Amino acid sequence: MSDDINKLAYDLLWTWQPAIQNLFRTIDPERWEQTRQNPVLLLSQLGDEGVKEALKRDDVNKAFDEAKTAFRQYYDRNPPFLDAHAPMVIGYFSLEFGIAECLPIYSGGLGVLAGDHLKATSDVGLPLVAVSLFYKQGFGRQDIDAEARQVEVYSENKGSDLPVKKLEGVEVEAPIGGTNVKIAVWKAQVGRVPLFLLDTDLPSNPPEMRTITDRLYVPEPDKRLRQEIVLGIGGVRALRAMGIAANVFHLNEGHSFLCAIERIRELRSSRQMTLEEARLVARAGIVFTTHTPIAAGSDYFEPGLVWDLLGPYLQQVGINFDRFMDLGRQRPGDPRERLCTTYAALRLADQSVGVSRLHGAVSRRLWKDAWRGLQETQVPISSVTNGVHMPTWLAPEISTILSRFVGPDWWDLDGTDGRWHAVLEIPASELWSVHTDLKRKLFEFVATRDERPAELDPKALTIGFGRRFAPYKRADLLLNDRPRLTKLLHDAKRPVQFLFAGKSHPADQPGKDILRRVVSLGREESNVVFLKDYDIELAGRLVQGSDVWLNNPRRFLEASGTSGMKAAANGVLNVSVLDGWWDEGYRPELGWAIPSGATLDRPATDDRAEAEGLYRLLEKEVVPAYFQRDAAGIPQRWVQMMRASIRHVVTDFSARRMVLDYFGQTYAPGARRVEQLRLLPDWGG
Ligand SMILES: *Cc1c(COP(=O)(O)O)cnc(C)c1O
Repeated sequence: MSDDINKLAYDLLWTWQPAIQNLFRTIDPERWEQTRQNPVLLLSQLGDEGVKEALKRDDVNKAFDEAKTAFRQYYDRNPPFLDAHAPMVIGYFSLEFGIAECLPIYSGGLGVLAGDHLKATSDVGLPLVAVSLFYKQGFGRQDIDAEARQVEVYSENKGSDLPVKKLEGVEVEAPIGGTNVKIAVWKAQVGRVPLFLLDTDLPSNPPEMRTITDRLYVPEPDKRLRQEIVLGIGGVRALRAMGIAANVFHLNEGHSFLCAIERIRELRSSRQMTLEEARLVARAGIVFTTHTPIAAGSDYFEPGLVWDLLGPYLQQVGINFDRFMDLGRQRPGDPRERLCTTYAALRLADQSVGVSRLHGAVSRRLWKDAWRGLQETQVPISSVTNGVHMPTWLAPEISTILSRFVGPDWWDLDGTDGRWHAVLEIPASELWSVHTDLKRKLFEFVATRDERPAELDPKALTIGFGRRFAPYKRADLLLNDRPRLTKLLHDAKRPVQFLFAGKSHPADQPGKDILRRVVSLGREESNVVFLKDYDIELAGRLVQGSDVWLNNPRRFLEASGTSGMKAAANGVLNVSVLDGWWDEGYRPELGWAIPSGATLDRPATDDRAEAEGLYRLLEKEVVPAYFQRDAAGIPQRWVQMMRASIRHVVTDFSARRMVLDYFGQTYAPGARRVEQLRLLPDWGG
């Protein structure tokens, strides 16, 4: 019995199976929230006796049965790829994974995307394993002080309190300068996909090595490079120590570029390849996703630092130090230039992609110097547009509607499937009533998180804005013309209210200033609420219960953006600049485009003109559409847009579509080429 329940607690499948989640909530609703929805901590706090007692309750027993059924059904359903005999194992490397609030190894969008990648991979059954670091302190939580400033709070996590297990007997080493750092391995189970977390906090390591993995995104280049050595080199070695024959490696961002070098080293030592042979075979199986639309988004390392930390290792692999540095230089041969991880990853990977079509074009322009002499259009960077894991982000109420109208396996259907037409036939009264209910639930949740009791009006058009407070995202664009904003907020007949949430990076002062302006606005205006500590749970509530999702970045700076996909899939209509995913997802029947004059050749944006465009859009189109009601009080045209939004976004911007694109465009061809190269007869020498 308690074995069974432990199995449910340690498998992060619960994060996308409402029936399993419901079991833990039913056992102890308060503790469930107190532990930040951590089933392992919940069970350990209750103890064996407490769990036994709980299982005697009828409601718990019923929930337990339903949870076990959901678990069994998930694993009994044979996903299409599980039986494929492809000689392929993909190693997916990322510095962060956002899977559940209680596993604090993520900071934001990149991590949540990586987490969604694993969940969708589990659903379709691709042979993939994931590697990251085990941060004891995670990323800071956000508090707001009396002066409306952000304060970061770090807390220490114990492995035994988290849904992870230490793998006894697995220990590897990675070279840092002249010494080897020892690495322990933990495992989190994400459905069918194992996520291995590397940990240097071992008593046998010297103190400065023990802290390598204590925090995510440390600003010090020295520590960052150490982390990247542990992830890239240590990660490949950890897979081998566990007997995992990964032959395709997916680098989610440039942080894990050293994985490619370690791959070259192992090919050289196990197959006596020349450096050039090893480089070509390794390269055939390397897939790289770049996420940044600006050069400054990459990591840069000074030659001296690289020499100190990687010199001896490179010598052992047989790579000349200057040639290695040149991999990461815009101008190979310039000894002063730093190593840029994006250039390095682009030159080591056979397949490089951006995260939306538009970002692919931006990336070809930005990084074209990696292939000097090639025309921009010929630069070998394509794109796989991001997607979100629908079973995680859809409100259970919306999933239920899809199950009824489309089919219980809606989450596993291609966008071309004829059954999707049924979405357009969902009765307006039903969809509207579900939406109103989700909005009410959001407001109840807000009441538990808001710093002052919010007076949210269920009838007001509620506009959500939740994302990192980086300057380019312009969270304060609406404040451009304060009288005009005030008029929008206080129209007695057609009231509008805003919910803001988001953190700024601890070192980003301009971002923090914008955050302060927005928090202050919330303190002055009753119709504006700032919710602190944006996290996976709050993100979920906001994208399910707002009426409109607002995104107004400077064009070309939002590589993809994924929160808008989460909103759109729940029938929350997007009002957004045509950037990232919205540039390809936008159609007038499912949302609105904020006009921007920026083009790829003239990317400068005019904040004032765009604020003006945003006000006009809200005043003339969005607000009137929302308040145009029929006799029953239903906004028929609005609901029609909700249906179209759900219909298109649930399939076209799902993580399922994304991982299948990665499979078809990159993993499968990569694995095939590696295998063909492996089977070439040896020429000796
Ligand atoms: C989806 C998500 C993000 C990414 O949102 P963007 O629109 O890409 O900025 C960031 N943080 C959390 C918690 C999320 O769920």
